[in-house]
Amino acid sequence: MDVATNQGRLSEAARNFIARRHKLLIDGKWVDARSGRSFAVFDPSNGQQIAEVAEGGAADVDAAVIAARRAFEEGPWAKMTPVERGKLVWKLGEVLEAHADELAEIESLDNGKPIHDARAVDLPFGCELLRYMGGWSTKITGQQIPISAPGDWHAYSIREPVGVVGQIIPWNFPLLMAVWKIAPALAAGCTIVLKPAEQTPLSALRLGALIMEAGFPNGVVNIVTGDGTAGAALAAHGDVDKVAFTGSTEVGRLIVQAAAGNLKKVSLELGGKSPAIVFPDADLSVAIPGTGSGIFFNMGQCCTAGSRLFVHERIFDKVMTGLADEAAKIRIGPGLDPETRMGPLVSEEQFNRVSGYLEIGRQQGAEVLTGGKRHGNEGYFVEPTVLTKTTPAMKVVREEIFGPVVCAMPYSDGDLDRIAKEANATEYGLAASIWTRDIGIAHKLARKLKAGSVWINVHNFNDVSLPFGGYKQSSWGREMGYEAIELYTETKAVAALL
Ligand code: NAP
Ligand code: MG
Repeated sequence: MDVATNQGRLSEAARNFIARRHKLLIDGKWVDARSGRSFAVFDPSNGQQIAEVAEGGAADVDAAVIAARRAFEEGPWAKMTPVERGKLVWKLGEVLEAHADELAEIESLDNGKPIHDARAVDLPFGCELLRYMGGWSTKITGQQIPISAPGDWHAYSIREPVGVVGQIIPWNFPLLMAVWKIAPALAAGCTIVLKPAEQTPLSALRLGALIMEAGFPNGVVNIVTGDGTAGAALAAHGDVDKVAFTGSTEVGRLIVQAAAGNLKKVSLELGGKSPAIVFPDADLSVAIPGTGSGIFFNMGQCCTAGSRLFVHERIFDKVMTGLADEAAKIRIGPGLDPETRMGPLVSEEQFNRVSGYLEIGRQQGAEVLTGGKRHGNEGYFVEPTVLTKTTPAMKVVREEIFGPVVCAMPYSDGDLDRIAKEANATEYGLAASIWTRDIGIAHKLARKLKAGSVWINVHNFNDVSLPFGGYKQSSWGREMGYEAIELYTETKAVAALL
């Protein structure tokens, strides 16, 4: 697991890109930060520095917003027909696909995720999402609306792009989150200032180059890398019409406060503590690997991770044995090894956070069925971990760990309301999965769960066309599907007295 075996696996294209001097993308040009500052980016499989990236601050955000405003109001973008806009968004999907291998490598190196997953999930999903959203450009319509007031009226609504959008994204799916944010905003006709996470800025910068290559006019997409200071400046900026954020609930609250200055529109995708509920009649050959990947996929760094596992007491031991076997089968290693199925956590900070939760869990009485330790002696690897004897009061059950750690709890026979009450006992409400052969029970329980996504006999299932978001403190708004287009448009009502 040394440097040679991870970075040594990079293709020439990826290696050349990573070795570049990484600047900000403002108004179609690559520029240094106004401050001249930069920050280091690391390979989480060994802690080695891999790149140096411009550290944007408030002045750079300001320049990017000015460029985005000009592109929105005056540039060729504003005059494009829906077909032309849709074609460009579609084309970006094609360009991304043509560079998928290189991007998967960059993503794996920077974030630590298995290249296997980057190739199988992040890249195909990103390409599909661009094509799907490109298709909406020509289908954003209003309505003709009948008027009840006296007189002869012609009234209708129009959907218009919301304007200049600030988009702040996290490090768990760096490229996919960037695409997830920009695709609907571009389809709707907005212009963008994107702030990637400081841990993982590289794939968004490569995407920036591909955006220009695809032919988007200058200023339509601007990318300002940097830390939370740049994000805060964007969220507070008086000429940004909307801010879209994915990340922690804590920063989500700060975004809302910062947005209050000019009352910009806000959409949020925040944390989760999603339940997976296994009924005694479930097909365990599906439920065991399914709930396993529900928590272990992407090293548990998924906002929808199935981190609270409720299993009927009759099958609890069997499921636990199966889950421990699943965990033992996972091949842990540096992301660029094609055989790797679990990489390191993204950063030392995240490693310490997850390790801290494991320690608190033990102190509060949780039992480690499997895992629970660091893997290896370099990089930020944590073993896939199953905790049992966990109770609803424990910190590990209440708080989002964002690591490969599941809290398993048996439940006894009872009505669906009781099961739903236990599953809903969290301040979050992003997702839930139900594992049963009884489709009637599944749909009845689905109605009772307070979660934005409910999955039956599957976990972490997302599709470009399915609205994605959460109840309670998990989110404001829904991304994906047509609802994402609604997030990036304003409705105008026009009434004419004839
Ligand atoms: P975070 O601080 O919420 O980071 C998300 C994004 O917000 C990053 O681009 C970050 O920039 C930026 N940011 C930070 N402070 C900001 C501010 N005051 N105003 C505007 N933007 C700001 O998340 P984190 O610290 O990386 O992770 C902490 C925890 O958040 C994780 O352990 C996990 O529980 C949760 N999380 C959830 C998701 C999710 O998908 N729901 C994703 C990531 C993390 P910098 O990266 O430069 O700080
Ligand atoms: Mg942070």
